[in-house]
Amino acid sequence: MTSARDYYEILGVAKGASAEEIKKAYRKLALKYHPDRNAGDRAAEEKFKELGKAYEALSDPEKRAAYDRFGPAAFEAQGGATAAGSHDPFEIFKEVFGGSGLFGEGVFGSLFEEAFGVGGNKRSRQERGADLRCDLEIDFEEAALGCEKQIAFPKLDVCSVCGGSGVAAGSSRKACPTCHGQGQVRVTRGFLTIAQTCPRCHGTGTVIERPCASCRGEGRVKQTAETNIKIPAGIDDGHRLRLAGYGERGASGGPAGDLYVIVHVRRHEFFERQGNDLYCDMPISFVQAALGGDATVPCLVGKATLKIPAGTQSGQAFRLRGRGVADVHGRGIGDLLVRVVVEVPTRLNAEQREKLEAFAACCAPDTHPQQEGFLERAKRFFSGE
Ligand SMILES: [Zn+2]
Ligand SMILES: [Zn+2]
Repeated sequence: MTSARDYYEILGVAKGASAEEIKKAYRKLALKYHPDRNAGDRAAEEKFKELGKAYEALSDPEKRAAYDRFGPAAFEAQGGATAAGSHDPFEIFKEVFGGSGLFGEGVFGSLFEEAFGVGGNKRSRQERGADLRCDLEIDFEEAALGCEKQIAFPKLDVCSVCGGSGVAAGSSRKACPTCHGQGQVRVTRGFLTIAQTCPRCHGTGTVIERPCASCRGEGRVKQTAETNIKIPAGIDDGHRLRLAGYGERGASGGPAGDLYVIVHVRRHEFFERQGNDLYCDMPISFVQAALGGDATVPCLVGKATLKIPAGTQSGQAFRLRGRGVADVHGRGIGDLLVRVVVEVPTRLNAEQREKLEAFAACCAPDTHPQQEGFLERAKRFFSGE
């Protein structure tokens, strides 16, 4: 066990608090301690992180049950906090407040709308649309340099026949007869009378007289959506882009979910990528390796000149600074590492053979010191010295 504070205490709720109460408590406190509103305040930042952790654990029924039984130790197995989830307090915040990712407006746009009651009660009656996932394959250069792509994906979208109302032409919505337009019904359980969301109208207070035939009153139909997406330079294989609000529409006009685009990058003919660095093998002749000289190296953009020093060995790598991939978060640019592979000629004509033999004849032991050293060691090895 660690000395971490109790999650319920952090959120200021009782142990038996409902999911709704926990969410409410998190919203209130997370808004108060959000780093955007407390610039430079370390204590607030810590508090914000702590809130995220507590909320993440208590908002998930399984994790909450584990926490109730084992305390924070439930999430500290094997030295990592992975069991409790991502722990990215900003991600949690965005999830709760439905903010936006890489492409949308700032988090606070939709945040204040929610926090200060635009829509109020009604909003909670509407269901948020599902998140969607789609895969996108792009070329190596497109990933490294950025590009724009059109993506098409199936999604539930507004029914064009009824405009999303779900109501057939000539018909209308009327007050729900079950709850008389209240959206809630009262049920008696023992001594208690409690209000429940009306099962017929799902809390909206209205029902459709004649539903639209195209969407069967749903207001949405499956269709193929298309959108252009900007791929930032430096994106790598397996990265995920989030397009806030591009997911499915919620039922009854609820907010749309998000679209997650998983990027797959095709292999390059000769570049390999590790982080922001690029690697490639470049063949050079054994004469070039021995004498040294300039070699032209193809780069992601343009070419570069690599100075090969005399006596370069096969497998030796050279770093060309700033010739790698730009960091996707704008943190600098990687390098290009060129590994030279010395190529030995396989077919010699008579003249070449003669000249090489003449070269060999004038070689001294120190012409090939590595070979000489190896032979020395091998001799000692076999004679058992
Ligand atoms: Zn319709
Ligand atoms: Zn009703």
